[in-house]
Amino acid sequence: MIRVPCPHCGERDETEFHYGGQAGVAYPADPSALDDVAWSSYLFVRSNPRGWLRERWFHGAGCRRWLTVERHTVTDEIRSPS
Ligand SMILES: [Zn+2]
Repeated sequence: MIRVPCPHCGERDETEFHYGGQAGVAYPADPSALDDVAWSSYLFVRSNPRGWLRERWFHGAGCRRWLTVERHTVTDEIRSPS
């Protein structure tokens, strides 16, 4: 069981959260200017490191807020971002 540290509610089980994907993926400034390759890259291409990755999680069964955490992709250890 993964335990997620919510800054508003404290540490809770992952079943209270919804995974929101990689953090820090900026929406394109002018999306209509992107071609299909650039648009599909924005939608689908994400980092896949062997190590720490910043992610967004939604605390649906708690405070109903989005939070950013760092998850180790090998061990699933989660910590608050530094
Ligand atoms: Zn919360």
